[in-house]
Amino acid sequence: MNIACIAHDKKKDDLVQFAVAYERILSGHSLFATGTTGTRIIEATNLNMHLFRSGPLGGDQQIGSMIAENKMDLVLFFRDPLTAQPHEPDINALIRLCDVYSIPLATNMATAEILVAALNRGDLEWRNLVRGGERLNNEE
Ligand code: PGA
Repeated sequence: MNIACIAHDKKKDDLVQFAVAYERILSGHSLFATGTTGTRIIEATNLNMHLFRSGPLGGDQQIGSMIAENKMDLVLFFRDPLTAQPHEPDINALIRLCDVYSIPLATNMATAEILVAALNRGDLEWRNLVRGGERLNNEE
């Protein structure tokens, strides 16, 4: 599966801890991230990730582009709902595209835990059918 990881600044520690906790599961998949988030995760784990631009510099839109091309299977987006973001339109567009294309999206750690457990159980295998089995990075 192709998985996107994004965290706003005040949520980056949470996503790093999440990635450490679920490293074994995540390591079996192709991982993508916005620039700063991905760099933090790479520093804290042995995970390989494709890094896009930082979110405010277009990274959210790059991930949105993958969703629009049916190339993203799961989005873990640890949002900070209490801080205004300069790229709010990009954030809304990314969330909207997940809904347009029925892509599983977690916007907080509680939901991310459930989705990663589901991923580990094989509940997202239907994505292989709608995506035609295509994978982009780190082919198993
Ligand atoms: P960042 O982008 O990982 O580069 O900080 C995340 C965001 O704020 O959208």
